[in-house]
Amino acid sequence: MDRNLTGARKRLFAKRGKKCEKCGYVGYLELNHIIQVSDGGTNDDDNLEILCEDCHAKKHGKKKKKYVDPAKSGIPTIRMN
Ligand SMILES: [Zn+2]
Repeated sequence: MDRNLTGARKRLFAKRGKKCEKCGYVGYLELNHIIQVSDGGTNDDDNLEILCEDCHAKKHGKKKKKYVDPAKSGIPTIRMN
């Protein structure tokens, strides 16, 4: 479902700027569906927002991977920036 977003990405970056729409972060960015595709959302511009990884994760109620304490999880983590 999320496969054809390359065009949308370019379009949105050109239109709204290449930064997170929530916090203004410039760097690795993702597109978020405001209405999830599984809930009938589309890939139209008005259903998409540019988010950084952190804001995107917050949207979906996920904890940032960065906050996982490797000592507690027992899994060695590699941080990629
Ligand atoms: Zn952000």
